Amino acid sequence: MGERFFNFSAGPATLPLPVLERIRDDLPSLAGVGASVLEISHRSAHFGEILESAKDGISRLLGLPDTHKVLFVPGGARLQFSMVPMNLLRGSGKRADYILTGSWGRKAVPEAELEGDVRVCWSGEPDGYSTVPAAGEIADLGADAAYVHVTSNETIEGVQFTEVPDTGATPLVCDASSEFLSRPIAVDRYALLYAGAQKNVGPAGVTIVIVREDLLERVPAGLHTMLDYRNWVKHDSLINTPPAFAIYVVNLVTRWLIEEIGGLAAMQKRNEAKAARLYELIDSSDGYYRGHARADARSKMNVTFRLADADLEARFLEEAAARGLSGLKGHRSVGGIRASIYNAMPPEGVAALCDFMTEFRA
Ligand SMILES: *Cc1c(COP(=O)(O)O)cnc(C)c1O
Repeated sequence: MGERFFNFSAGPATLPLPVLERIRDDLPSLAGVGASVLEISHRSAHFGEILESAKDGISRLLGLPDTHKVLFVPGGARLQFSMVPMNLLRGSGKRADYILTGSWGRKAVPEAELEGDVRVCWSGEPDGYSTVPAAGEIADLGADAAYVHVTSNETIEGVQFTEVPDTGATPLVCDASSEFLSRPIAVDRYALLYAGAQKNVGPAGVTIVIVREDLLERVPAGLHTMLDYRNWVKHDSLINTPPAFAIYVVNLVTRWLIEEIGGLAAMQKRNEAKAARLYELIDSSDGYYRGHARADARSKMNVTFRLADADLEARFLEEAAARGLSGLKGHRSVGGIRASIYNAMPPEGVAALCDFMTEFRA
């Protein structure tokens, strides 16, 4: 095996080494099956067990109430930018409220506008998406709206809600792609939550959608089979051939979180310690490293910062790569440096990055 770098890529992103080793061991033949998970029928009892286990793992980690269902949908988080308004806005006679704290939320808006009336009720764009609204800051948030859409962690700018806004009786819809299963959440507050697996819980190819079942009564008639949440619930995510391998990996990641990490409270503790270490270094660098997000909105998952100029940033990236620290380049739309320190980034990786940053500055 080649040497593994510390991979700070935003997505697809680093996976837990024990999960990768298990995949390697299982690959030619799944125990008791005699074939690879890549080769078996998605209607087989064996795959059924994997699917059930993945749903059970996510439900247990989140403490999911019976009112909510876990779905595995292909098409990425971005398909949900369309499916959410198709199912919940179309024909509702209401508008949808979108809170924009970064680039992903902004991309969701035009898709929703194809289905109905949209109000951008708060935007961080004038401040370069460096912060989130304070609790209660948005006037009539969600009043008479079909739903409120929020992005709990904006991956590109590195801003995160500590707590998502209270929308009262109006359904709260959340894109949690880049922080899913990184900390405990009050999951009963969400009407619908979705997350592309490739940031924090698996490989690309599957998106986890958690939906409160009573919401489905609002789905209009006439949607295409594959775009109607009711069919995903009815067929238990098996309308057609699912992204079986991705679901299998998500299942292994949930087992790792439960058995080796000890659940989401333990994961949160570890994630907060990693983030604190990096932000402390940035804050004590006399402005050599300049954090992008305002201190109270800083992401625990994607740490974004800049150096004095693009040339110095290029040198930083080059020397970091030579030290086995990869994937640190900021998103092409904003530049700078971004260290994604998801669940699977070990504390040793953050320590190695901090050591490098101290030396580089010197
Ligand atoms: C990466 C990302 C997306 C897009 O995910 P795809 O699965 O590539 O469609 C959407 N939202 C957030 C918050 C993301 O981090």
